[in-house]
Amino acid sequence: MILTAGSANLDFVVRVPHIAAPGETVLGSDTVLMPGGKGANQAVAAARAGGKVAFLGALGNDAFADMLLGSLSDSAVDTRHVRRVAAPTGAAYISVAENGENAITVAPGANNYLRPGDLPELHEATHLLLQLEIPLETVSAYASAARAAGVQVVLNAAPACALDTALLACVDILIVNEGELRALQGAVCTDGDLEELTAAVLARGPGTVVVTLGARGCFARSGQKTHRIPAYPVKVIDTTGAGDTFVGVMSTWLAQGAALPEALQAASAGAALTCTRAGAQPSMPGRQEILRLLA
Ligand code: ATP
Repeated sequence: MILTAGSANLDFVVRVPHIAAPGETVLGSDTVLMPGGKGANQAVAAARAGGKVAFLGALGNDAFADMLLGSLSDSAVDTRHVRRVAAPTGAAYISVAENGENAITVAPGANNYLRPGDLPELHEATHLLLQLEIPLETVSAYASAARAAGVQVVLNAAPACALDTALLACVDILIVNEGELRALQGAVCTDGDLEELTAAVLARGPGTVVVTLGARGCFARSGQKTHRIPAYPVKVIDTTGAGDTFVGVMSTWLAQGAALPEALQAASAGAALTCTRAGAQPSMPGRQEILRLLA
């Protein structure tokens, strides 16, 4: 079982003619409500890909929480570990302009209240999947407990953040995009190629590092071994959720015993399929669709 511990947000999306300048009011389209948050998105992606998945997150006691729980359950994610806390459910307010620019304000709310003590017993879990949209102290405590219990720790170090070596030492598989890779090494590390940067990160603890490169595919390093997987050529409609799909599908394949190159191939196929449709969770593919693209 993959335990995904992370954020869940309700996204309020409004299309606008242009992004409002400070002090300006613009009239937009009707609001579209969409389930989001990297934790919930990755749990959904992993479950749709055929994984046995449970979600650990913090939600408020409001109607938004019920909508997010519904979207997780619809994708067969086990929500029994979700905490309800006395803070509003996380929300993201997203304006999307006609020229494609966006402006996003995130109100983490309940996500900030997921605590180190909220981690359930890990006896059912083979993998713990983490991101950085909950308190760093909580991420570190969960990673360290999972390492001690022999559970594989998969960390998607997003949003970009410098990380200390104590956390990285508990990580088995680290997944980042190129910006996040540079950020996690701290301000000193703004140059260097992928070969050098990934070797430097592995020296700080993780057994494997995977770097997603958008339409250029991905690069991975495990010890001295490196892998490059090109992206699947697809007709791109909207890349939102591609990164979360990649992480979720890769985790499912690994949890089912696949070797790394096979898991990366499946993740690339799943992420490419997400790019062919609009939205994050609504665009995530099911297992059969991924297998068809892989065949
Ligand atoms: P986001 O946060 O926007 O979801 P990210 O920066 O975390 O994205 P990316 O590196 O942009 O992640 O994309 C993740 C993976 O999705 C890539 O490694 C690739 O496999 C797939 N992907 C992204 N863009 C495309 C594309 N245009 N065509 C096909 N596959 C793509």
